[in-house]
Amino acid sequence: MTEPFISLHNSFYTIKDWTDQDPELAAGFTTKLGGVSSGDFHSLNLGFHVKDKSEDVCANRRLAGDLLDFPVENWVAAEQTHGSRIVQVSTLDRGKGALNYEEGYRGTDGFYTDEKGVLLTLGFADCVPLYFYSKNRDRIGIAHAGWKGTVSGIGREMIKAWQKDGIDAEDILAVIGPSICSQCYIVDERVIREVRPWVHPSETPPFQPVPGKSSEYHLSLQQLNESILLQSGLKKEQIQTTSLCTSCSSEFFSHRRDQGRTGRMMSFIGWKENATS
Ligand SMILES: [Zn+2]
Repeated sequence: MTEPFISLHNSFYTIKDWTDQDPELAAGFTTKLGGVSSGDFHSLNLGFHVKDKSEDVCANRRLAGDLLDFPVENWVAAEQTHGSRIVQVSTLDRGKGALNYEEGYRGTDGFYTDEKGVLLTLGFADCVPLYFYSKNRDRIGIAHAGWKGTVSGIGREMIKAWQKDGIDAEDILAVIGPSICSQCYIVDERVIREVRPWVHPSETPPFQPVPGKSSEYHLSLQQLNESILLQSGLKKEQIQTTSLCTSCSSEFFSHRRDQGRTGRMMSFIGWKENATS
């Protein structure tokens, strides 16, 4: 399978197919490179809630806004809680949480919009970013799926919300973004118990026991999310999955690898307002 993300700048990756088709669209994932933060947050930390200096985070966010050609005043952001609450936003919501954590959406792990000029953003360090795009170009969305969000079905919730508004599953494209790979991600039985109900008996499970350990497993959150999207009505050809691992690659912050003392990358999707197409 071809890699959906390409790097045009060392500070971020872009979803190639979507942005090629739709020049007004900004969609991708930042790296940890090219910012002003220091120490554990060196250097492009975009998360406010990780004990970095908030003036550094604001500077990094402004920098990212310039690089993405999407001013930070037009972003929306959330206090993410590993749940499955998804919110529809519009240009009226621009700026919420962009430069101030407290003003972001409380308890929210997904956004979607039908409008131009608003950048949907969420923070990541190993969890899975899910991107959604209507082929008819009338809606875009983004979700944060760690293991808890994944098993609470946030991917399915997004598709259900769009279907309610008359968008058919066959018109929805999805991309599964940079996140911790199964080789790096070991979980215990408590997690696997929540995963099992999503696994169809005929498919290869997204987890494998760790050799020599009785209750530890390698879990592929990418495969699990893909399976949930398939169960929600998408076809395989509508889903692209990255091979970029946030823990394997030193260009990313990784909560696991860095033992919790680390920054956050940002997933983003939005239509630019005044782009020439
Ligand atoms: Zn890895």
